Amino acid sequence: MSTTRAQPDNYVVIGNPIAHSKSPAIHARFAELTAQAIDYQRLLAPLDSFVATVQTFIASGGKGANVTVPFKLEAFTLATELTPRAQAAGAVNTLKFDNGNILGDNTDGIGLVTDIIHNAGYSLRGKRVVLLGAGGAARGALLPLLQEQPAQLLIANRTVSRAQELLALAQEMSNGIDLQACRFEDLQGSADIIINATSASLHDDVPPFSPTLFSPQTLAYDMMYAAQPTAFLRLASSHGAQCRDGLGMLVEQAAAAFALWRGVRPQTTIVLADMRVAMQARS
Ligand code: NDP
Repeated sequence: MSTTRAQPDNYVVIGNPIAHSKSPAIHARFAELTAQAIDYQRLLAPLDSFVATVQTFIASGGKGANVTVPFKLEAFTLATELTPRAQAAGAVNTLKFDNGNILGDNTDGIGLVTDIIHNAGYSLRGKRVVLLGAGGAARGALLPLLQEQPAQLLIANRTVSRAQELLALAQEMSNGIDLQACRFEDLQGSADIIINATSASLHDDVPPFSPTLFSPQTLAYDMMYAAQPTAFLRLASSHGAQCRDGLGMLVEQAAAAFALWRGVRPQTTIVLADMRVAMQARS
C-alpha cells in the first residue's frame, strides 16, 4: 500500500549575498526535531528587487521568509502588520505570509536575550549592562534587553549622536532603568554584561573602551561569531571575563522565527552544539 506525504510548506532566507547563510541548516534541524514538513532554501534577491522577489515567492505559495543584509529596512516597509519588537527595532528579519497579510517580526534581539539567559545562564535583571554599538543589531536588541529590567544600560558608540538616538528610543520604552549614552572612551567602572554590537570584529578590531569594564564576573558577549575567538573576546578573556559569541543568538533568533511560523518551539541546545561542531570543522 502506498502512502502520500503532505507537500512541505516553503520558507526562504532572502539576502544579498546569501550563499554563506547558515539558516537552511538550522531550520532543517528544527524541522527534523519537531517533525514539521517544511522546505527552507536560500533566495538571492537582486539589490534593487527585494519587494518583487518576495512577491514572486508569495505567489508561488511561500509561507514565510527570513530577511538578512541589506533588506531588513525594506522588509519593515513591506510588512502590512508589525509585532511590537519589530516596531521597536525599526527593522524586520522575519516575515509570515497569510492570506494577503504580511506580518513582520524582528527576532534578533530576543535571540540575543534568550541566549544570554537560557544558554549562558546569566540574568540581566538588576545588572549593569553595556551595549557597544548603535547600528541595526543594537537597536533590535534594545526592547528585549530593557524588558529584562537591568539596573543600568549604557549605550556607547563611535558616532555618539547615534548612541544618543538609541538612548531617546530606550527612554520611550523603559521605566526606572538608568539609561546613558556616551563615547567608548567615556565608559567607566566594570560591567556585569558587555555586549559588542559593533561590526569592529569583522575587521579584527576592538572599540577603544577601557578594559577595566571586564572583571571575572563579567559576561563579554560578541554578536559576531567565528571559528576562532574575535578580537573583542580575546581581550575580554585576557582580563578574566567570561566569553560568549553570537552563534547562540543566531540559533535562538531562528528558533523564534520557527515558532512564529509553525507554532512550535524547537529544542535549540542540540542544534547549537551541531552548528558549533560544523563551524569548527570548516575552519
Ligand atoms: P551596522 O552596520 O548597522 O552597525 C555597525 C555598528 O558598528 C555601528 O554602531 C558602527 O558605529 C560600529 N562600528 C563599525 N566599525 C567600527 C569600528 N571599527 N570600531 C568601532 N565601532 C565600529 O551593523 P549591524 O548592527 O547589523 O551588525 C553589528 C554586528 O552584529 C556585526 O558584527 C554582525 O555580524 C552582528 N550580528 C549578529 C547577529 C547574530 O545572529 N549573531 C545578528 C545581527 C548582527 P558608527 O555608528 O560610528 O558607524
